[in-house]
Amino acid sequence: MKVVILGGGESGVGAALLAKKKGFEVWVSDKGKIKDQFKTELEKSNIPYEELQHTEEKIFDANEVIKSPGIPDKVPLIKALKEQGIPVISEIEFAAKYTNATIIGITGSNGKTTTTKLIYHLLKTAGYDVAVGGNIGYSFARLLAEGNHAYYVLELSSFQLDGILDFRPDVSVLLNITPDHLDRYEYKMENYIHSKFRIIQNQKGKDLFIYNGFDKNIETYLQGKQLEIRQIPVKEIFHTKNKLTVGVSEFDTIKCSLKGQHNMFNATCAIHAAKAVGVEHKFIQHGLGTFVNAPHRLESVAIIDGIEYINDSKATNVDAVFFALSAMEKPIIWVVGGVDKGNDYNAIESLVLEKVKAIVCLGVDNTPIIEAFLGKIEIIEETQSCKDAIKVSQQYAHEGDAVLLSPACASFDLFKNYIDRGNQFKAAVLEI
Ligand code: ADP
Repeated sequence: MKVVILGGGESGVGAALLAKKKGFEVWVSDKGKIKDQFKTELEKSNIPYEELQHTEEKIFDANEVIKSPGIPDKVPLIKALKEQGIPVISEIEFAAKYTNATIIGITGSNGKTTTTKLIYHLLKTAGYDVAVGGNIGYSFARLLAEGNHAYYVLELSSFQLDGILDFRPDVSVLLNITPDHLDRYEYKMENYIHSKFRIIQNQKGKDLFIYNGFDKNIETYLQGKQLEIRQIPVKEIFHTKNKLTVGVSEFDTIKCSLKGQHNMFNATCAIHAAKAVGVEHKFIQHGLGTFVNAPHRLESVAIIDGIEYINDSKATNVDAVFFALSAMEKPIIWVVGGVDKGNDYNAIESLVLEKVKAIVCLGVDNTPIIEAFLGKIEIIEETQSCKDAIKVSQQYAHEGDAVLLSPACASFDLFKNYIDRGNQFKAAVLEI
């Protein structure tokens, strides 16, 4: 059995390590450069690879091809492989064949990482033998190559779900579906929605589907469909100041670091998932109080002269900004901008008018933001670095205000990625 892996990133290398462990003949091919750390790993495991090219005759010699989620299905190489009847699957599909563990899979346009990490934390707090990965941290295949856990909590992107055939999570969570990545889906929302729903395509019997019961796209898709699986639609979020109610259970949220209704929704889904696999109330309560979210998601950086600086660099679409603004209880200096993915700011206009004192653009081309808010928000400034954005924000912020980086855009115009943007923002704050 010859396995060819296209893409030498985390998922490709994870798949290579697992395939090697399972005794396959493995070869990795990447059209770009493979990071040194991954090359070292491949070499250590005696896995041959090529970079900066795809040698087609070797690729077409494969019995199975595992494709990185970054490679679209429409590229000629993938099309040709499929035409020749060579199975092209994702690393998630490949990995899932090699475990009988309980799998909790999480997808959605926003909130995946937060919810995935929280579910993992709740299970871990309860002493479960659990690992976390997928679209965050370690790939599923690497986790399986390196260990054998009873539970896996997996963040799943739509690109990963596109390459599945039989992958079947015991518990699936679909958080929301709002326009994103449409360039990969022929600019058709229905294709993207379909992709997200692949998370339940193989679920059956006692498998559980937890989903957003107030999301219009999800509701429309499900209309008239009879699902033969257990379902928990989360239709409302029952959160008063310090109390979150999930089903018949109540949880104290005083010590919970997650802020905003969107995060209470994520927590509600996470609690349902944890309860579904038997986590007891006391552990969920304890876990909620000790959870620390990943950085760059409504991360409070510092309070300086009474002004709070918040890093929400991961908010790369308008929907995420909607929830960030909703979660704010202070007047906001809003730092926004970057690579616009066709944003429609109408959806957040009333929130912006209610809460934002000044807009500080942080991007190369800020036209869409300026056009959307000119004449509506009194102060709109343009900057092209985090340092300047902080300096300008300071001019307008007063004690009791918040300076919120919640960009609604990708970061590639001025930064390497959202992490780089968030880190530069934090560094600029800490230099004040
Ligand atoms: P993902 O992994 O899906 O990108 P994250 O948990 O990393 O999700 O959060 C990404 C951004 O979306 C953050 O700015 C966060 O504040 C926002 N967000 C988190 N959960 C939700 C939700 N349920 N609905 C909308 N936005 C959310």
